[in-house]
Parts: sequence; C-alpha cells; structure tokens
Amino acid sequence: MAINIHNAEFIISAVKSSQFPTDNLPEIVFVGRSNVGKSSILNALLNRKNLAYVGNTPGKTREINFFRIDNQLYFVDLPGYSFANMPKEKMAKISGTIDSYLKSRKNIALVVMLVDIRHKPTKDDRLMYDYLINSELNFIIVPTKADKIAVTKVPDYCNIIKDELNVPEEIDIIPISSTKKSNLETIWQVISEIL
Ligand code: GDP
Repeated sequence: MAINIHNAEFIISAVKSSQFPTDNLPEIVFVGRSNVGKSSILNALLNRKNLAYVGNTPGKTREINFFRIDNQLYFVDLPGYSFANMPKEKMAKISGTIDSYLKSRKNIALVVMLVDIRHKPTKDDRLMYDYLINSELNFIIVPTKADKIAVTKVPDYCNIIKDELNVPEEIDIIPISSTKKSNLETIWQVISEIL
C-alpha cells in the first residue's frame, strides 16, 4: 500500500464514549507516553504535516482523537501518558479515559504501542504493556525516533526493550523514524494484513 494514497480527515476530539464515531469501522489505536512521537507517526503514516498536532504540552490533552482514513478505518490517538510528574487528579482522568476506551471499544483492530527507542521502558510503559499482553487485543510495539541512534545499533536497542518487557516472539517490534520516514511501510503492511 503506497503511503501517499491515504485520505485522512479529522473527525472528532472525544471526551466521552457517546461522542465516538458510530459508523463501525475498524480502529488502529496509537498509545504511548507523552512526547514519544505519537503525533509525528500519525502525520508520517498519512504523509501529512499537521493533521495531528506535534509538540503538544506533555500530558495536557485527555481527548481521544479520531481520524477517518479512506472511509475504511480510523486512526485513534489516545492521550499520552507520563504519570511521574503529573498531579494525581489529572493522572486519574487520563488513565480513566484510556482504560475505558481500551476496555469497552469493540472496534479495535490493532493497538500500536509506541516507546522511545533510546530509553528503557518506564513504569508507565510497563503498565501499558502488561495491560495489553493480558488482554485479547492485537498489538505491536513500535520503538520511535530510530534516527537518533546508529543504524547498526537499532536491533540491540529493540532487544533491550524486548528483554525489559519480556515480549514473546510472536509480538512484532517494529522500529521506525517519523523524521526519516523509515519503516513506515512495515506498519502499513501490518495494518493491511489485519484488516
Ligand atoms: P507526542 O507527544 O507523542 O505526540 O510526540 P510528538 O509527535 O509531538 O513528538 C515529540 C517530539 O519528538 C517533537 O519534538 C518531535 O519533533 C520529535 N520526534 C517525533 N518523532 C521523531 C523521530 O522519528 N525522530 C526524531 N529525531 N524526532 C522525533
């Protein structure tokens, strides 16, 4: 699937489930800590500059953004988590939003869990991973910002993430760079296979 054929429209920034789209299309969901590069990968996959807003204040938004792609599927942008320095009340709101979407939404086809390739998974990453591995959801792990390390080191860094989280062989770990647009076609391939 060529990257430039996708037509994407922003549909809604939802704060409650009654606002979620009702046209019953499959949803590809992006999760990750604030600043992991979630907006950047959404834009890069869709070959758009500013569909999803890059450089948002970390942890500021708790909305769930829905983008409809080619009238065939949705990209769903869940709030970024980064709970270490967050006031408790905000943390509860954001984790509540993520939790209730992941637990109750029937249209989820794939969850794309983003982690920064340079860092060992944080406590928040671990919580998300544990949730996903114990759920029935299909998911892949996507280390972001691969351009920030030497190409030859990319497999080693992916292995650190794999070992730290104890990821079984059958779960794909696909490193990407949104800046360099590398490996995005592999993500599209996984999406097409699932749909
Ligand atoms: P979000 O908070 O997860 O939506 O993260 P953003 O997409 O806003 O990105 C956070 C920061 O990381 C921004 O300064 C981006 O320019 C930068 N960034 C995102 N993806 C990449 C990448 O693939 N490579 C590099 N070098 N920087 C990136």
